[in-house]
Amino acid sequence: MGVLWMSFMLKERMESEELMLLRLLKARGGLVDDSRFWNLEKGYQGEMLFDKWFSGVDGEWIVVNDLLLEHGGSLFQIDSLVIGGDRVYLFEVKNFEGDFLLEKDRWYSGSKEIKDPLSQMQRCETALRQLLSSLGYQLPIESSLIFINPEFTLFNCSPKLPIIFWSQLNRFCHKLLKQSASSGKLHARHSRLAEKLCELHMEKSPYERLPEYRYEELRKGIVCVGCGGMGVRHHYRMIECESCGSKEALDTALLRSINECRSLFPQIKISTKIIHDWIGETVSKKVIQRVLQINFSLIGYGKSANYVKETQRLIRTDIKA
Ligand SMILES: [Zn+2]
Repeated sequence: MGVLWMSFMLKERMESEELMLLRLLKARGGLVDDSRFWNLEKGYQGEMLFDKWFSGVDGEWIVVNDLLLEHGGSLFQIDSLVIGGDRVYLFEVKNFEGDFLLEKDRWYSGSKEIKDPLSQMQRCETALRQLLSSLGYQLPIESSLIFINPEFTLFNCSPKLPIIFWSQLNRFCHKLLKQSASSGKLHARHSRLAEKLCELHMEKSPYERLPEYRYEELRKGIVCVGCGGMGVRHHYRMIECESCGSKEALDTALLRSINECRSLFPQIKISTKIIHDWIGETVSKKVIQRVLQINFSLIGYGKSANYVKETQRLIRTDIKA
């Protein structure tokens, strides 16, 4: 009774736009740096695993994921911020795999030195503390570096460090539950803090970090929604992938392909002709035009006519000329 908040998710995690665009580029033969791509992909998978785990930790919290904040002129990123009754938890999630070594504050993967994730988290904590204080909140911050992958080992690690390994997650869950039970209820000021942090969240353009790519150089066709390959065939109103067997309604696949083109080339004017080319001329212009007309607004006349902004209408399968 009287529970105001129960594990309330204010800001859900979205796949980073950079990762989404890289995936599109990769499927179409763009020159994507594989290690950057897999780092992002792996990081995202790790964060999803963490979210799944945390959703099973009962208690009163407000969860705010994926924040990019600024304080004192520098940017800092938070994987997961959890507001409890008497403190704020900051979780930095790493999906590292394999054997790592910690030696005099230096981190090694094999013989290669890597960026110290602990000091990265501590910088983040300091910036967050200053930001919270500037907003009038003096809540203590409890930071944990979570290694979510069961295949991760860190040699030479002091047990005093704020690190949680996969094998410790159950015990960590019990600790959080205890703390939640004794921390008091959440109040309006907690939710105001969460809302304020969401307001301060900065969107960064993902395009700056993408490799160079040109429309002409990318492979044309419909990308399979299941495996990301391009071996799809279409039969009447369905498409089917020859490699993985995934099926998708043709209209949905077309709308998805149109949006992929819009995401990769925000400057391109969308027309039936462009989309016909983009999907490798695999579907008739008539069908493409129908999907465009239903989902987008047409502006301009004659040759300069183009489709803008997806409308909220659902895809219809019939349309009167
Ligand atoms: Zn497939």
